[in-house]
Amino acid sequence: MKTLIYSTHSYDKASLVNIIADRHQLTFTEKKLGPYTALLSKGYDAVSLFTSDDASADVLAELKKYDVKYIALRSVGYDHVDLKKASELGIQVANVPEYSPYSIAEHAVAMLLSVNRKLVQSRHLMALQDFRLDMLMGFDIHGKTIGIIGTGKIGLAFASIMKGFGASVLAYDPVVNPQAVDLGVKYVSVDELLSTADIISLHCPLNEKTRHLISKDQLSKMKKGCILINTSRGAVIDTSELIKAIDANKIGAACLDVYENERGLFFEDHTRETIHDPMFARLLAFPNVLITGHQAFLTKDALNGIATTTAQNLDCWQSGKISPNTLTRK
Ligand code: NAD
Repeated sequence: MKTLIYSTHSYDKASLVNIIADRHQLTFTEKKLGPYTALLSKGYDAVSLFTSDDASADVLAELKKYDVKYIALRSVGYDHVDLKKASELGIQVANVPEYSPYSIAEHAVAMLLSVNRKLVQSRHLMALQDFRLDMLMGFDIHGKTIGIIGTGKIGLAFASIMKGFGASVLAYDPVVNPQAVDLGVKYVSVDELLSTADIISLHCPLNEKTRHLISKDQLSKMKKGCILINTSRGAVIDTSELIKAIDANKIGAACLDVYENERGLFFEDHTRETIHDPMFARLLAFPNVLITGHQAFLTKDALNGIATTTAQNLDCWQSGKISPNTLTRK
C-alpha cells in the first residue's frame, strides 16, 4: 500500500523501514500533517501520523480531496484526530493500542526518582565539585501511598512497579481493571485519592471528560508536598493552575512528559529561537519541575512495537479487511 509517513524522525525511521518496507511502499517526510501539508498526501492510499500531527476536521477534508482512504496512527492516543469527521468522510483510522506500556510507566518512575532524589541538581553540583548534600534530601517511596488515575495498560504497569517498591497503591478509573485488583490496587473515589496520595500519576486518555481533570479544585485537595506525574496528555492538567499550586508550595514537585501547548514545540529544534510561551518558561524555571519532551515512549522495544502494529494495520487494509485497531465507524 502506498503510504506517506508524516512526522518522521531519525529515531523511528529505522524500525519502520525494517518492519514495514518489504511489503508496503513507504515515503517519509519530516513535515507534520496540517492545513498546508495535506497536499503532500496526493497519490497515496494511506498516511501515517504521530501525536504532533493535526488531523482536525478541515485537514481530514483535505486528505479526502486527495483520495486518502486510511490513516495509520503511530500512537496509542488519538486526541489529535477528529474521528467523527473521519467516519463521515469514510476514512478509516486505526491506532497502535499497545506497544510497550512499560516504556511509559518506566519513564514515569525515572522522572519520579529523579525529582525525589534530586538527581539533576546532584549532577550539576558534582560538575561544580560541590559535594555537600544539604540540597539533596528525598524520601523513601517504600511505605508511601501512590494514586493512579487511569488503570489501563500503562497505569497497570506503573502500579506493578510501585508495588515492587513496597508502596500502597490507590486508583481511580470508571472501569475497574481486574489485573490491578489482583495486584492489590485499591479503587477509591477521586477525592479520596487526591487527599491521601503522596504521589499521583496520570494515565488516562485526553477527551472531553478528562480535559483539565486536574485543575484548581483538585490541586487544592492534594496533600501538601504531593508529587504529580503526567505522562498521559498535557491538557489533562490545567497548567496555569498547576503553576499557582507550585508557586504556593502546595505541590512538592511535578514530572511532566507532556505539556498542554506542546504542539509545535516538542519534537523540534528551537535552539535558535525565543520561545514565546510564558507558561512554559515559568514551568522551566521551577527547580522542582522536571520536563521531558514527550519522550516516555522512546525505547527500541516500543518503536519496534509501533512499527509492527502499523504494518498489521496496513496489511489488513491492503487485503480489504477492517483492522482490529479501527477507531472509526465500521
Ligand atoms: P488504556 O486505554 O489502556 O487505559 C486508559 C485508562 O484510562 C482506561 O482504563 C480508562 O478506563 C481510563 N479512563 C478513561 N477516562 C478516565 C477518567 N475520566 N478518569 C480516570 N480514568 C479514566 O491506555 P494506555 O495505553 O494505558 O495509555 C494511557 C494514555 O497514555 C494514552 O491515552 C495516551 O494519551 C498516553 N500515552 C502517552 C505516551 C507518552 O509518550 N507520553 C505514550 C503512550 C500513551
